[in-house]
Amino acid sequence: MSSEQIPFIRPAFPSPGEIAADFADIAASNWYTNHGPVERRLADALAAYIGQGAHATTSASGTTALVAAVTALLGQGDRSRYVVMPSFTFVAVAQSVLWCGYRPLFIDVDELTLQPSLAAGAEALQRYGKGIAGILLCNTFGVGNPSIQDWETLAQADGVPLIIDSAAGFGSHYGAGEPLGARGNCEIFSLHATKPLAVGEGGAVAAKDADLIARIEAIQNFGFDGRDSAALGFNGKLAELPAAIGLRQLATLDARIATRRAVLERFRVEFTPLGLTFQPNAEQSSLCFASVLCPSAEVKARITSLTATAGIGCRDYYNPPIHRQNFFATNPDGWAATELSSTEDVCARIVSLPLHDDMAAADVTRIVDVVRAAGR
Ligand SMILES: *Cc1c(COP(=O)(O)O)cnc(C)c1O
Repeated sequence: MSSEQIPFIRPAFPSPGEIAADFADIAASNWYTNHGPVERRLADALAAYIGQGAHATTSASGTTALVAAVTALLGQGDRSRYVVMPSFTFVAVAQSVLWCGYRPLFIDVDELTLQPSLAAGAEALQRYGKGIAGILLCNTFGVGNPSIQDWETLAQADGVPLIIDSAAGFGSHYGAGEPLGARGNCEIFSLHATKPLAVGEGGAVAAKDADLIARIEAIQNFGFDGRDSAALGFNGKLAELPAAIGLRQLATLDARIATRRAVLERFRVEFTPLGLTFQPNAEQSSLCFASVLCPSAEVKARITSLTATAGIGCRDYYNPPIHRQNFFATNPDGWAATELSSTEDVCARIVSLPLHDDMAAADVTRIVDVVRAAGR
């Protein structure tokens, strides 16, 4: 057996030669950032990929995209109101809301889908009423929420904005022919090096509402209206070179995702008999990695230990959940939560396995063998 490590994430980037050619073009144009021609092409290409009449703008990161979207839709808060979100997600979700002057209201996840629980969301809206400023729904692990329509209905009935964090999910689909990006008031994406559409550091926001995209774009450009700062903003712009990388990444995205989905299918065939379960819609997602829910904490512990011994990078996102991260645990007045028992249970049983573009068959087999040994 090879002793070579299988990294948890193996980013795939354009070749140094391709990037050098892009940089030569950018240098020749003498236009390095501030919504230059390459960034404009990427924003248009992202919108075209999503289709459905969506518009898009780019960001310096998924986090700045979140801060800009919350600011555009909710305005600045005074910490008296809450934004509903899962605790079972990446910490940036709660941090972005705090930077905007709102407190996170953590709700539980559904144990089958690992998505925020619709029932818990409805209960939170009812219990907190006008204390809720908006909903920040996360498409867990970049997988499209099968109940997205019900969430839209819930948000509309309560008259609160619905912002969707699809950070790891560019290229994922809610259903046949429906890429993520056109639901809720807007959807945000991360183009971080670890995500399927990677530029290094970057992000994007997509929405059907062109005016909202224009406002988000302005917020990420110091609130400028022409040369006048007309709204509270900051610098959240994406520079030309990462935008050029994004265009190249987008051109190969579907082919790379197809190779990832084939590996997921192999995992599904091998692991389902062991009682490991996968998220509904994972098969039509862009698969940042492969998350599986183990039948017990003991199986998770065996997978964690055997993969470590075998040199296979393995994580357990999102454990610990946000409310148990140190900053939140030691600032209990900064947030609130409804019941989180499913979140705790999922954290005890979740495992994320590596899943790369064009993953070598030998690597896939090594992972399969180790997980089968652990799951027996
Ligand atoms: C990666 C991620 C983010 C943050 O994106 P950055 O580009 O790293 O700022 C936010 N939310 C979720 C769910 C993520 O996975």
